[in-house]
Amino acid sequence: MSESRKPRPTGESDLFARVRAAARQEQFLEVVSASEARIRFEQHLDLAPLPAETVSLAAARTRVLAHDVVSAVDAPPFDRANVDGFAVRAADTVGASDGNPKIFTLNEEVIACGHAPVLTVVPDTCTAIATGGVIPRGADAVVMIEQTELIEENPPRIELRRAAAPGQFISYAGSDIARGETLLRRGTHIGSREIGMLAASGLDRVEVVRRPKVAVLSTGDELVEPGRSLKPAGVYDSNGAIIAAAVSEAGGEPLVFGAFPDDAPMLERTVREALAVSEMVVLSGGTSKGAGDLSHRVVSRLGNPGVLVHGVALKPGKPLCLGVVDGKPIVVLPGFPTSAIFTFHAFVAPVIRARAGLPPEATQTVNARVPVRVASELGRKEFVLVSLVKGDQGTIAFPTGKGSGAVTSFSQADGFLEIDALASALDAGSDVQVTLIGNAARAPDLVVMGSHDVALDVVVGALADHGLTARILAVGSLGGVAAATRGECDIAPVHLIDPASGQYNRHLVTDGLSLVPGWRRMQGILFRHGDARFEGRSATEALKTVLADASALMVNRNAGAGTRVLTDKLLGGARPAGYANQPKSHNAVAAAIAQGRADWGLAIEPVAKLYGLGFLPVSPEHYDFLVVDSRRERAGIQVFLAALRDERVRARIRALGMEPDRG
Ligand code: AMP
Ligand code: MG
Repeated sequence: MSESRKPRPTGESDLFARVRAAARQEQFLEVVSASEARIRFEQHLDLAPLPAETVSLAAARTRVLAHDVVSAVDAPPFDRANVDGFAVRAADTVGASDGNPKIFTLNEEVIACGHAPVLTVVPDTCTAIATGGVIPRGADAVVMIEQTELIEENPPRIELRRAAAPGQFISYAGSDIARGETLLRRGTHIGSREIGMLAASGLDRVEVVRRPKVAVLSTGDELVEPGRSLKPAGVYDSNGAIIAAAVSEAGGEPLVFGAFPDDAPMLERTVREALAVSEMVVLSGGTSKGAGDLSHRVVSRLGNPGVLVHGVALKPGKPLCLGVVDGKPIVVLPGFPTSAIFTFHAFVAPVIRARAGLPPEATQTVNARVPVRVASELGRKEFVLVSLVKGDQGTIAFPTGKGSGAVTSFSQADGFLEIDALASALDAGSDVQVTLIGNAARAPDLVVMGSHDVALDVVVGALADHGLTARILAVGSLGGVAAATRGECDIAPVHLIDPASGQYNRHLVTDGLSLVPGWRRMQGILFRHGDARFEGRSATEALKTVLADASALMVNRNAGAGTRVLTDKLLGGARPAGYANQPKSHNAVAAAIAQGRADWGLAIEPVAKLYGLGFLPVSPEHYDFLVVDSRRERAGIQVFLAALRDERVRARIRALGMEPDRG
């Protein structure tokens, strides 16, 4: 038997069969536009609010009012004094002044809160009354105690030196809430203020729209529940958590089913159970053809009309599958986290909101400029997630650019822009409209764009102590230099070596930018402990050994990275195995070595520690800050620079393995 005909382990052969089958098949049965997808889906849906249920006021917050609430009582329920003083007849006070004080005889009654008055205020008398007291019969104004003088006599009297207008310091019955008035309208999202109004009108319970129950299931052999340790090749089920939370935000009640392996019979059983107990089922994962298109096949077996849409001309989100089974919507979101949550908001949240009795979400947009070219796929409407920063010439929208596989693309974005299906790119400098997502964040007090470093978080963390906010966009050293030059950020952290002088960062200083020293990070060779080719040797010795060893596999860095410059210098023209593997971060280099996909590579020392790897020092790299001079007086920059000089901050930077420069 030749090498290639050896039987593959079961499971693997199954996968190969599935991949081959998928390759033969048309990718999706029919890819439709987003609007066509929505029409097909909603044609089969009941989008009316669910019936009402009664809940106590304590449970009413975040719920939606099912009916208009008409008040059965007045608030205040009686004419009420607004100050401490005396209830009088305004007519008796006419002409009162310093030269002509009016005298009133005090009635033998003091009206405290909760006391129903007995005596009538007759001409030239008054009754002592507390704030909140019931205005007695006969009185039509209240005078403040401060504007009166007590005359100790029998019976006691008061002297008044200022006239009172009728109605002075009185809140009339029903002036706050009038009996018969519509207090709150149906569809109102109930918060503390609405609860206050309901309580003031005497209600201890309220009818709210029943929340649609939405079953949330994740699929994938690789999924691990958050809180457990990650198995090899495993990823945490983040979709389950974010979708469940987004269901709540849209007014639904998530039923969290958890993550299930790619096992069709088990998944089918679970989805049937989910359908039985919910108004809607939302799955994620298992929609890509390569993986056997498991979820879509399961949905197609459940009932009528079944799958309505499979494949939407959208990016992110093409593999979306929309179906209806016996009147209940069932949706399979793409597995990639950003695609999943994006399509959730576009197709699922509006359905939940409608059934929860909420109006469609109001979208807010802002105009912005895109500073870089954004490539786009022809034939698919593309949504690009962006971070917004205030530049010298208006708002700038930076593509967050981690792709739809990233969890943070959506979570850290301020909004998104659309690229038409017929455009192949958006040119740098284009004016765009950005749809905001989440709470449109207020502009940060400090914008940092450039290379990221763990110690940077320590310095930026100081801003929180001053009530200031910061935004860090990791765009790499070169991206930081460009942003600082264009006045799009306050500070750009950089670590670029000048190949001519061998010095770091000084060559980046131009008019309007100054360089503030940061810290040095030791760069060196990372390896797994116990690897005799490295353990106990110097970097130079180790390098000699691995360059002579064909089985030693390196992991390189991307062109443009400071560490890449150093790597090439060390290699002196050699191209060892693995040279073409060029990830973009120190962490990716360390992960590749820790997981055995490579044996060595260059990165900074703190990262070696984080991944439990050995480290042979090569040379220090300077991580400094380009500061935009015209923005230097901003509070955010001032606090940042002060933190850089702060001994406690410097001690924490040292603890992370960096050596702070003289501040
Ligand atoms: P699939 O649609 O199942 O082929 O998944 C596409 C990608 O999304 C894969 O990289 C999956 O690991 C990832 N993925 C699928 N489901 C989840 C989930 N629940 N949480 C995080 N990532 C997921
Ligand atoms: Mg999967």
